[in-house]
Order: sequence, then C-alpha cells, then structure tokens
Amino acid sequence: MDAYGLVLNAGSSSLKFCVYRRHEAEGWRLGARGQIDGIGSSPRLTARDDAGATLADRSPGAGVKDGRAALHVLAGWLEERLGGSPVLGVGHRVVHGGARYSKPCIVTPNVIEDLRALIPLAPLHQPHNIGAIEAVAERLPDVPQVACFDTGFHRGQPEVAELVPLPSEIRDAGVQRYGFHGLSYEYIATALPLVAPEIADKKVIVAHLGSGASLCAMRARKSVDCSFGFTALDGLCMGTRPGSVDPGVILHLLQALGLSVPEVETILYEKSGLLGISGISNDMRELLENPDPRARLAVDYFVYQAAKHVGALAAVLGGVDALVFTAGIGEHSAVIRRRICEACAWLGLTLDEAANERHGQRISRAGSRVSAWVIPTNEELMIARHAGALLGISAAAPAGTAHRSTK
Ligand code: ADP
Repeated sequence: MDAYGLVLNAGSSSLKFCVYRRHEAEGWRLGARGQIDGIGSSPRLTARDDAGATLADRSPGAGVKDGRAALHVLAGWLEERLGGSPVLGVGHRVVHGGARYSKPCIVTPNVIEDLRALIPLAPLHQPHNIGAIEAVAERLPDVPQVACFDTGFHRGQPEVAELVPLPSEIRDAGVQRYGFHGLSYEYIATALPLVAPEIADKKVIVAHLGSGASLCAMRARKSVDCSFGFTALDGLCMGTRPGSVDPGVILHLLQALGLSVPEVETILYEKSGLLGISGISNDMRELLENPDPRARLAVDYFVYQAAKHVGALAAVLGGVDALVFTAGIGEHSAVIRRRICEACAWLGLTLDEAANERHGQRISRAGSRVSAWVIPTNEELMIARHAGALLGISAAAPAGTAHRSTK
C-alpha cells in the first residue's frame, strides 16, 4: 500500500502543504502541492499535482476562521484523496528554533513548550507554526511530527556574526542575529555537490531572492553569516520589508511622528521595500514591466542593496568562489541576475549572457574567476528529508532531481 508524508508551512492567513508519496522503487515523490489561503476572510483550497494539473480548487466556506480550522479542512481533503493510506509523519516549517535548536527534532510536549517561549522573538509566525503542530496532534494523534527550523542552518556561525552589540542583559534575553531562510540554504548546500562539485566546498554566497530576500555566506557548505539578523526585516530590500534601516529612523517614527508600535510594525512588514519605494507593487515582475520611474527606482534599489551585501559577505569570506541565485526572482528573472552579476564584475564575475537568458544552471563564462549559478530551491523537500530521516522512514529523492514547481 502507498504511504504518505505531509509537509506543512503555516502562516497567518495561509496553510501551505506538500504531500509526498512513498514509492517502493523511487523513494519519496511529490504527490501534491497546495494551500488554503484567505484563512479568516475568504478561504480557498487549491492543490496541484507534480505536473501542475489541478487537484483541488474549492471554497471550503467562511467557517475557516483560523489555522486549526484550515488543518481540519486539509485533513478532510487528504482522507478523500488518500483513501485509507496512512500518513507516516508530518514535517513542519517552524520559523524560530532559538539559540538551542540547531537541528530538526521530533515534536514532544517539551519541544512545544520551548517553541512557545520563542513567540516573543517571532510573534507574527511562531504562533501559527505551533498552532499547526497542535491541530495535527488533535486531528491525527498517532502521527509523529517533526519541527524544522528556519534558523537552524545558521547556528554555529562565528560569535561576531551572531552578535547584536547591545548591553548584555538585553543579549541574555535572546537578542542576537539568528538568520532565516535556513531550510532553503540547507537545500542548496545539499544540491551543490551534485550541481557544482568544483565549488561546493569553497566560498559561496547564496542569494535567496523571493518575496523575502536574503544572502548567506557559506564556507564548505556551512553558514558563516546571513544578511537576516534578529528578525527577517534586516539585510536586503524585499517585497514589502525594507531590509537594513538605520534604527534611528524607527525612533523617529515613534517619537517625532507619533506613530504607534502596531503602525510601525505594519509599515516595516507590509508597506515598505519594493512596495514602499514604488507605491505600485511588491511584485518584481510587475515592477520590471512598469515604465513608471518609481518602479525603476524600486528595482534599482533592490539590485543596489543585493550587490552591496554581496560585497560585504565577500569580505566576511575573504573572497568568493561562486554566487548562487535561488527563489522566485533568483530562479526566474534573467534581468535581475544580470544586473547583480554586472555589479559584482569587480569580484571577477563574468556573466554568460546566453546561459543567463535561458536560465541555465551555470550562468558565468568558462574563464570567470567567480562562477555564477541558478539552483531552484526546495524547502519542502528539505523538510520531508529531515522528517523521513528522524522518523526512520525511507529517504526522499536525491538532491537536484525534484525541484519545487514554479509560481
Ligand atoms: P515566496 O515563496 O517568498 O512567496 P517566491 O520565491 O515565490 O516568494 O518569489 C516571489 C517573487 O518572485 C515575486 O516578487 C515575483 O514577482 C518574483 N518572480 C517570479 N517570477 C519572476 C520572473 N519571471 N521575473 C521576475 N520576477 C519574478
């Protein structure tokens, strides 16, 4: 009989999921990818199979008011689709593992308590991640669960990279640079030996450029620094988040402009970045197509900040051997890759224009001292692998063979 594994990524208004099917001969294969979005407003369940064919597109009704209700809708749909086939385990994306959880772990009541204690460090995400774990425990009480952390891959960085230089009593309360997008970077680290063995264990900067955007400096496939810091607001310009901002600006908003803390939070998470600069959109595709000078400025700033942070991380690494692009913009936008690579020419990077245009795997010229690559990320497969390994159920498909479908 087929058996299944479920990967969940629970947010404030959406529950994203992947269903992996264990195939006797092939290991884990993606069976379905989907989401319930509009939770609390106009919920919609959509799912596609590995080839992109629609498996579900329906409105489960206005009763889906929170993540718990969404999980029950998903469980009902899975029962319909899977018949009596067992779900062997559920892997969760959990935004924060704190200083303690550097590796994925099987969820126990103690783990849930530890994760709850981290809510103040990630109030917008952690409660939803924990809520999904609890909802699964309620609906599928016998199915083991694994928590995989977005911060985990960055633990073990040098002390100076993790430091937030504030007084010790503040640091002792957990204020440090954690870094995020760790599951994406870990996936790339596992794919590098297959895709680019010649640079896999050298000095590599990975650019995860999606709605959220960050860079990770790796030495021998270990994270040594990340442009994200205490929260996922730092570093590069993002769709709606500003990236690095002088903290004095935040004081100015609170003190001189009299904004409330929730207002500032909304500005920082939802109204800044590409959207804030352009006043048009947070979507890179739309901005690239729009001739409005504000759209051009937003794109210019995005590229400027990405190149500036590549320079900073090259200094951290003491040189760089390769630059890897991943996530929505990194995988699909030849023009953004070209512009960032051109800005990094001083490092010794020469772009292969034709390879870049066709989204080839290696997009730098043969003689380029720094090579450039496009590697599609797959955070869900990383979670499935961790869950499979921890629960002692067979491994997923090898790295580099099962890319996430594009959006
Ligand atoms: P997330 O998973 O964080 O929601 P993605 O990794 O899917 O985000 O990236 C979303 C971003 O990728 C959006 O800004 C979108 O416009 C951009 N994107 C996707 N395809 C393209 C493309 N062909 N050209 C430019 N940008 C693209």
